Amino acid sequence: MDLKMICRCGHINEFQPASDSGQTPHCQKCGCVLPAHQQPPPIAVAQHVFTADRFLLHQKHLAIDEKYYLYDETGRELLFVRRPAQWQRRLLAFWLGIGVVTLVVYADYLLTTQLVGKKYLPVSLVLGALIGSAAGLALALIIMPLRHIYFYQADTRQNLVLEILQLNKWPILYAHFVLCDHAGQVLAQYRRHMLVSLYRRYWDCFSPDGRLICRAMEDSVPLSILRRFFGPLYGLLRTNFIFVSPVDGTVIGMLNRKWTILDRYVLDLAAGSQNYLDRRIAVGLAVLLDTGERR
Ligand SMILES: [Zn+2]
Repeated sequence: MDLKMICRCGHINEFQPASDSGQTPHCQKCGCVLPAHQQPPPIAVAQHVFTADRFLLHQKHLAIDEKYYLYDETGRELLFVRRPAQWQRRLLAFWLGIGVVTLVVYADYLLTTQLVGKKYLPVSLVLGALIGSAAGLALALIIMPLRHIYFYQADTRQNLVLEILQLNKWPILYAHFVLCDHAGQVLAQYRRHMLVSLYRRYWDCFSPDGRLICRAMEDSVPLSILRRFFGPLYGLLRTNFIFVSPVDGTVIGMLNRKWTILDRYVLDLAAGSQNYLDRRIAVGLAVLLDTGERR
């Protein structure tokens, strides 16, 4: 069987074990070194951080970047999480996109009135607007930043513990993310089903060798449908997620945003064993769900 290694760029590399010549493996797509299968250098993360069964998640309000604190059940601070908003670059993408549309339509107007005559102006303007919109959108997409998520030991942002890298900007069928440890080794890959999520938000989580290890979805279908019509309804229908084992469908965890402890959302993993779902992967998924999905 081929050996699979997911790269930080999201490419799944396949190697034949027999061809292992002892050289450091490189990603076949982006060429970066694959740090998989080697012990990452130790980091001074206290052991207790990823051994708990329950975590409390609290978003710092009124911050430009999305910021979270992760606590244990007693309220002890475990991690600081930051997802930079990158407003400047997003605004730049927006205005440059608008600029391109305006420029193309104006040039189209000048050329048509001077070279072809006003008779064909409406048709020409419609065409110009279509072409301009496509060009503006393409440019905006290129400039638009990817929004990664960084997990630090404390809000001094000194020791990076985990990072979640966004892989595609405007997903059509799937949104892809990878979770890496502090050494850049991929721990898991997350995938959001864009179409299924239209009526029930739905995520898959894979191990680095491509095995489906966990699914996350809205807690119930009737509630999902009600939320589509009424929104969160002042918190009454606030979106909760369940984590489900793909093997037998049992619930192995829950992200509860409705009934909070100390005004914090609760990630409860007590139903599933630590051996089955690595707490780092579960915590990464919970933060991704909270920043990516409407409450
Ligand atoms: Zn790569």
